[in-house]
Amino acid sequence: MSKKQNPDHTGINTRLAHSGNNPRDFFGFVNPPVVHASTVLFPNAATMVSRDQKYTYGTHGTPTTDALNEAMNQLEGSVGTIAVPSGLAAVTVPFLSALRAGDHLLVVDSIYGPTRRFCDDMLAKFGVETTYYDPMIGADIESLMRPNTKLVHTEAPGSNTFEMQDIPAIAEVAHAHGALVSMDNTWATPLYFKPLDHGVDLSIHAATKYPAGHSDVLIGTVSANETAWPALTSTFTMLGICAAPDDAYMTLRGLRTMGVRMTRHQESTLAIARALESMPGVAKVLHPALESFPGHALWKRDFCGSSGIFSIVLDVADPTHHQRKAHAFLDALTIFGLGYSWGGYESLAVHANLSDRTIAMPPKQGPVIRLQIGLEDVEDLMADIERGLAAAKSA
Ligand SMILES: *Cc1c(COP(=O)(O)O)cnc(C)c1O
Repeated sequence: MSKKQNPDHTGINTRLAHSGNNPRDFFGFVNPPVVHASTVLFPNAATMVSRDQKYTYGTHGTPTTDALNEAMNQLEGSVGTIAVPSGLAAVTVPFLSALRAGDHLLVVDSIYGPTRRFCDDMLAKFGVETTYYDPMIGADIESLMRPNTKLVHTEAPGSNTFEMQDIPAIAEVAHAHGALVSMDNTWATPLYFKPLDHGVDLSIHAATKYPAGHSDVLIGTVSANETAWPALTSTFTMLGICAAPDDAYMTLRGLRTMGVRMTRHQESTLAIARALESMPGVAKVLHPALESFPGHALWKRDFCGSSGIFSIVLDVADPTHHQRKAHAFLDALTIFGLGYSWGGYESLAVHANLSDRTIAMPPKQGPVIRLQIGLEDVEDLMADIERGLAAAKSA
């Protein structure tokens, strides 16, 4: 049998179909085994001490987690990837690997909410100080760097409001000051943005979203370059925070179809976002691939696609009516589910809570409704959104 082709130089869908495991390693079965394991046996006492064999204990990795991590390495261009039990853990583990008491951390203000809570509560408790910065800051992040700034955390587009960031400019400044750069890359997936190619050291995914893709798995991945990998892998091992075998398997399975799903998410979402730009009752559409969006030029320069989540701002000038109108919109929906998370095959809507913002303030025109566009038919989803807008208007 010929060896599996080195997938590094092939197209993205070819890589998604063939990365991770080599079928020849397991009797030719196309998919890797799901290894449920704590104990790994050693052939003799000397090996037990030297640990000189590929696998030593379940928390350190199995053929199943290796298959997922290797697939992510090929997508992200990283030297190593860890798989952890949630997207939130994929944020907290690299933070713990890069920071110690007395350090300073810079975090974008349009950050995923639970990341902010981790910084403000847990990291503060351990003596790490966090400063939030404007997503549009670019190279001016220089003014916020301190001698003890050890990590600059980015997320682009930002959660709920989708602000773009000049990642290469930020990375250049951070590195000049000896700080690492992490990026929550969940929105774009490695298909539409490869952070390590733009100066990022640690690329984070809530793989719960598009990689798993079916709203039935919680998992996170962190992919590191050579600089960040040693501390990341040792922190991962010390914390014992490893993804479960079935979840790792399901995520690798999800990756096989992620390319075709993303194409569909992208097309449907752009069609809906464009239609909503001229829809009465909608004040603004927040989607980086729209020419009208303030961060569009950065998106166009650095990203090669867009995914299935964006927001609309309902046209409700009086803030005392925001909640009532938003709830009327949501309660009129029959196809969109009301629920958190996103990246699955089904559409979801949520009234975004932006009350924690300190710099990237919420739009004044009205309440922000975040829409995840699933794989359903666009006409049905548009009809559902129109039902929501009609209900908001008369509420
Ligand atoms: C959902 C999400 C997370 C957390 O993922 P979970 O698996 O739900 O813990 C982290 N970052 C971003 C940007 C997210 O959207």
